[in-house]
Amino acid sequence: MPSGRHFLQIPGPSNVPDRILRAIDFPTIDHRGPGFAEVGRAALDGMTWVFGTEGPVVIYPSSGTGAWEAALVNTLSPGDAVLMYETGHFATLWKQLAERLGLNPLFIEGDWRSGADPDAIEARLKEDKAHAIKAVCVVHNETSTGSVSPIAAIRRAIDAAGHPALLMVDTISSLGSLDYRHDEWGVDVTVSGSQKGLMLPPGLSFNAISAKALAASEQARLPKSYWAWDHMLGPNEKGYFPYTPATNMLYGLNEAIAMLREEGLSNVFARHARHGAATRAAVRAWGLEVLCRNPNHYSGVLTAVVMPEGHSADAFRAVTLKNYDMSLGNGLSKVTDRVFRIGHLGDFNDLMLCATLAGVEMGLRDAGVPHKAGGVQVAMNQLGRASDTGRAAA
Ligand code: PLP
Repeated sequence: MPSGRHFLQIPGPSNVPDRILRAIDFPTIDHRGPGFAEVGRAALDGMTWVFGTEGPVVIYPSSGTGAWEAALVNTLSPGDAVLMYETGHFATLWKQLAERLGLNPLFIEGDWRSGADPDAIEARLKEDKAHAIKAVCVVHNETSTGSVSPIAAIRRAIDAAGHPALLMVDTISSLGSLDYRHDEWGVDVTVSGSQKGLMLPPGLSFNAISAKALAASEQARLPKSYWAWDHMLGPNEKGYFPYTPATNMLYGLNEAIAMLREEGLSNVFARHARHGAATRAAVRAWGLEVLCRNPNHYSGVLTAVVMPEGHSADAFRAVTLKNYDMSLGNGLSKVTDRVFRIGHLGDFNDLMLCATLAGVEMGLRDAGVPHKAGGVQVAMNQLGRASDTGRAAA
């Protein structure tokens, strides 16, 4: 085993802070006993705060994919049309899941270099005079590309088209790292997962549910049992679950929520934005290209970097892992071997970012990838400027 701590700089799972690992380490208790209700209620109430909603949140012991499925099966019926947007690999997987469920996804094609375009969504909805489209599904932070979709603008686009479709948003890699407001932005179902901005291991997923989505669930005819919201919401009122919950993960979740409250969500979001900006500055100083082309859609969660022509991103990642014990994200499906991804999400600070960028710069050198040295210095200069950090005023 290499000495020192492994650098887990993939865009999720993110580094799990010791505080959360210690919380998970407490003894498992009776999930139907009197002591459990407090754990369950704290987790459910805390998550409404993280999502920015006054409506219900359900928590599943599953990876994020389960919460994708739950959002669809609870609100839709066989053959329903759903408008989805090809922001990248994860939007494509959600579309494939919808197909397998017997839905009819209409896919707006994208080039994987920006978030969703609200105008394209509005135009497509305006064509749908019969209101056959029952939901618009968008990935907030597309983890395969590092592009963020403008959710509030997409809500406005749906309203401008006068269309009644539900708005469903995947925040699996954005919640707890990027600004997100379920109620204020008029989202009907928000999907999320534990292993990224929430700083937990993989294993919990979430749906935040609007009143309109709850009403839709009463008419929805896709088959469901384990994922059924109505099955959950009754026991949840008192802090219990209809089956055995992931007790120790809920301890960890309550600790994560406490950490987010202590730092303050706006400070968490600002920290990620700074780290995203410093990473992009380093990438440009190396003479490499950021995959996201739209500056309004840049991500504070991760930065995907385009490899110079003729060089393998996977070979570079393998060298970086071997020489510096750091895992970087790989290029997925359409961009396999063409990009690598630097995760700067979750429990992360300036020095962790400097070390991460140093690992990338040394890996580029060791793998013989053409680049200009000095990206780390540029990031350090940027991170250190008081005007950028707001620290001078603090
Ligand atoms: N959606 C996004 C944006 C993701 O980043 C991921 C996983 O990385 C998923 C969905 C799938 O979630 P999971 O792998 O937890 O099932």
